[in-house]
Amino acid sequence: MNRRGGLLLKMGLPLGLVALLGVAFLTGIFSKAPQVQTTTRMMMGTLVTLSLWNLPPEQAERVALHVFAEIARVEDKLSSHRPNTEVSHINQVPRGTWIPVSTELGQLLRRGLAVTQYSNGAFAMSLEPLTALWGFSSDRVVSQPPPATALRDWLQAYPPTNAIELQETEQHTLQIRLQSTSVGLDLGSIGKGYAIDRAIAVLRQDGVTDAVLNAGGDLRILGSKGGEPWRIGIQHPRQHDQVVAVSLLQGDIALATSGDYERFFLYEGKRYHHIMDPTTANPAYAGLISVSVQAAESTLADSLATAIFVLGPEKGLALLAHFPGCEALLITEEGKPIRTPGFVGEWLDKPF
Ligand code: ADP
Ligand code: MG
Repeated sequence: MNRRGGLLLKMGLPLGLVALLGVAFLTGIFSKAPQVQTTTRMMMGTLVTLSLWNLPPEQAERVALHVFAEIARVEDKLSSHRPNTEVSHINQVPRGTWIPVSTELGQLLRRGLAVTQYSNGAFAMSLEPLTALWGFSSDRVVSQPPPATALRDWLQAYPPTNAIELQETEQHTLQIRLQSTSVGLDLGSIGKGYAIDRAIAVLRQDGVTDAVLNAGGDLRILGSKGGEPWRIGIQHPRQHDQVVAVSLLQGDIALATSGDYERFFLYEGKRYHHIMDPTTANPAYAGLISVSVQAAESTLADSLATAIFVLGPEKGLALLAHFPGCEALLITEEGKPIRTPGFVGEWLDKPF
């Protein structure tokens, strides 16, 4: 199983920084390149890199502390595999019970549920029992699919609609109800995006105007690199040391990628990966191997990339049309790109 293969390139930083990144990761210290300062930490199951343009070292260090503290705070709320998060507490309550939910988590769920609705359930933040069966989000090495009987049992108890119900109480607080034992919160497809958005808000409060925050290929940029756009590589889904497209981005924009190469294993010649199709209880095979989405915010880019991956090109692009201002680059299993007109990026036409 390759859990975190090729992350350095997926991180999409200017190629000259890759070596420095490695150093920062190994030593865990703050490193300084000419004018771009990068700090990398292992968080949310991936490498998170903050790149700052041209700040005095003490300010850069302080900003980095704030950013990583905010990501840690979000992870402490949303993780489903840590015991004491809000999400884990909800997952421990018997099904069918209304449970109070914090405004922050409730609002995030609301945003995700819009994608669930428009994708007819293909995007589902309710798959924790299924992802636990497959084991991709655990630390154990997974090398074969779960027993077919276990998947069938899961499928039988998984509700076709309204797996997660969210409602406002008379006191204007929010509460949540999980419908069956096959339902549990897993925010793996949206939480990283949300953490990035929150951390970008912190950066802004600190007065930072030019930065890239990259969590294993899901990223958001601010401003520019001294007037030049930030150069972001999109990882080749089959050759981990290669990029397949390059986006020159500036301003305020998010980019997220979902692919079948991020967490997977091969079993009897078949690829099993971590993005599930709730209608089959198996990994989604809809003709795509990578989906990148550009949007104003990472929360939306992250959730749409996963949703489009599950839906495939036709339904996926129909879903995207519900979200004005969002653009996508899809890579089919034959290695062909499908892109919406506004997607910022150059396709490099590498062999597959
Ligand atoms: P990554 O975390 O590698 O960037 P994604 O954003 O696509 O990838 O999220 C995949 C994660 O989302 C899975 O590891 C799992 O936790 C969860 N997940 C799996 N299938 C679905 C789905 N159909 N809808 C929503 N979340 C899913
Ligand atoms: Mg996602």
